[in-house]
Amino acid sequence: MTDWRTNLPAVKGRYQENALLSEQTWFRVGGPAELLFRPQTAEDLVLFLRDKPGNVPVTLLGAGSNILVRDNGISGVVVRLGRGFAGIKIEGNKVIIGAAALDRTVALTLADAGLSGLEFLVGIPGTLGGAVKMNAGCYGQEIKDVLVWAEVMDHQGRVTRLSQTDLGFTYRHSTLEADQIVIAACFELDCGAPAEIHQRLTQLLATREQSQPVKGRTGGSTFKNPLPQKAWELIDQAGCRGLQIGDAQVSEKHCNFLLNLGNAMAKDLEELGEQVRRRVQAICGVELEWEVIRLGR
Ligand SMILES: Cc1cc2nc3c(=O)[nH]c(=O)nc-3n(C[C@H](O)[C@H](O)[C@H](O)COP(=O)(O)OP(=O)(O)OC[C@H]3O[C@@H](n4cnc5c(N)ncnc54)[C@H](O)[C@@H]3O)c2cc1C
Repeated sequence: MTDWRTNLPAVKGRYQENALLSEQTWFRVGGPAELLFRPQTAEDLVLFLRDKPGNVPVTLLGAGSNILVRDNGISGVVVRLGRGFAGIKIEGNKVIIGAAALDRTVALTLADAGLSGLEFLVGIPGTLGGAVKMNAGCYGQEIKDVLVWAEVMDHQGRVTRLSQTDLGFTYRHSTLEADQIVIAACFELDCGAPAEIHQRLTQLLATREQSQPVKGRTGGSTFKNPLPQKAWELIDQAGCRGLQIGDAQVSEKHCNFLLNLGNAMAKDLEELGEQVRRRVQAICGVELEWEVIRLGR
């Protein structure tokens, strides 16, 4: 059978066969993508999606800060949006942000411009597209509070604009389907003094550093909080703080974070997470739901 990768549309962006996804994710684990595609522009992405071979599966990757790629990698094409998708355009108190813009860059740029409402992004190590998909948030604020619309491309290259309501946001969740790629989103913000906004950013970063292993190889919060309870408290109660399988560890500092201490495999991290879920179920009677998205084979 012919390899589908021999029949790819001519694009301006870059194709990479058997690209190691451990280099693209915060956990630093995971097998290869059959093909990694980095489109240069929206037109490039449309061209690729329209003319790609047959039914080859397409998976979106942001900064890889909320995913666990399994050890045998991902079949089909993994798309990672590049610099051409990272623009930040300010019009009065509205801002249109490209999906590949890094959350931290967004927060700093808006602080410089005296716009307030997305400060919480400063400590989230993802992209804006990932933040919309996940309704990212912290310290009582989330994406849905300030989003006006998002532009979304389907796997045939068709673009639609979805309102805040269309996106069906709930806690760490949107109703975006796997075949909907966020290209850009618009937010309505409040005006404020840049110096005060920058001060809030500094405080947010300091608070986070105190309580989370921010420099570790991690995927952030592993499980959603089963509101009104907190996942970390249940994990602690179930005696899982510091629990380890190989180089996969439940963080001592924040026990809703899993860590790759160096040479963990994805299967170690996933098995450790499942062990935590079983213990919390047995001891606290609560079923934890994964927040980290597990992808691949
Ligand atoms: C140290 C650390 C701290 C964290 N703290 C927080 C926190 O405080 N609050 C919080 O909410 N999260 C937190 N996270 C988790 C993570 O950073 C967020 O969920 C982030 O929004 C994910 O963005 P990403 O670009 O890395 O997405 P990825 O992890 O690459 O992908 C996540 C999901 O989004 C999809 N996706 C990515 N880009 C797009 C796109 N353009 N269009 C459609 N789908 C897309 C992917 O297919 C996948 O399903 C933390 C993670 C780490 C490692």
